[in-house]
Amino acid sequence: MNPGTTAATDTSAASFGSPSAAAAVGVERTVTVRIKRQPTPDTAPFWEEFAVPLRPNMNVISLLQYIAAHPTTTEGKATSTPVWDSACLEEVCGACTMLINGKTRQACSALVEKVSPDLSPITLEPMTKFPVIRDLFVDRSRLFNDLKRVKAWVPVDGTYDLGPGPAVSQKLQETRYPLSRCISCGCCLEACPQYTPTNKFVGAAVISQARLFNEDPIGSALKDERLEALMDEGGVQDCGKAGNCVEVCPKQIPLLESESAKSIPRKEHPAKSR
Ligand code: SF4
Repeated sequence: MNPGTTAATDTSAASFGSPSAAAAVGVERTVTVRIKRQPTPDTAPFWEEFAVPLRPNMNVISLLQYIAAHPTTTEGKATSTPVWDSACLEEVCGACTMLINGKTRQACSALVEKVSPDLSPITLEPMTKFPVIRDLFVDRSRLFNDLKRVKAWVPVDGTYDLGPGPAVSQKLQETRYPLSRCISCGCCLEACPQYTPTNKFVGAAVISQARLFNEDPIGSALKDERLEALMDEGGVQDCGKAGNCVEVCPKQIPLLESESAKSIPRKEHPAKSR
């Protein structure tokens, strides 16, 4: 029996020869979803398991929506509705980032058929580098506060017409565009061994955004203030160049390139200078 199906609904391809054979006999296939639950930040986490009937093209959000509407575990126990964060559902807001089968990614773009082609159980956990608010919902405020720390914006007074902005060369546009794709999801921070819940490292996303705005003709006005923040405790010198950030970034941002970009100078780390 496929481990991802319940005994009562073992309608896997192995049982019926193919998914269409299962559909032909009118029996639902299910996938088991294991969710790490934590009703309050102070509660010890525990696991609950749910069986969700499969529908074509399901993503992890649709699994969660089914469970929210039917909050009964595979043991038949009525439970509370699992909580998660989401908004755009098109991999733009980054809110639904969580650990899916141990890998940090967005639940909206995680298709069940790709995450679990053999219908083995799917595990969902909150990211570990941010404080848990409830269940799969974490507080990413540290990331947004660090973006404020490096002034990741273009300082423009929008109260009157400033006319057209300065011309930007094609080459600079091509350098900056990939950096502008960041969705502040936190995947790079979750995967980074240098970024911990208790230290002050700003992490790859923030360094990359500092570079994006340093290389903007108007944004460069704040270059010195950004560099001061990036050379302070938790700044760019804390990067260990593990490269995990590049592996998990859903927008393929050249994060290691940003870390060593000329627009992000660094001071010698005290430990390294000894
Ligand atoms: Fe997410 Fe990539 Fe931005 Fe990091 S750099 S927050 S992984 S989009």
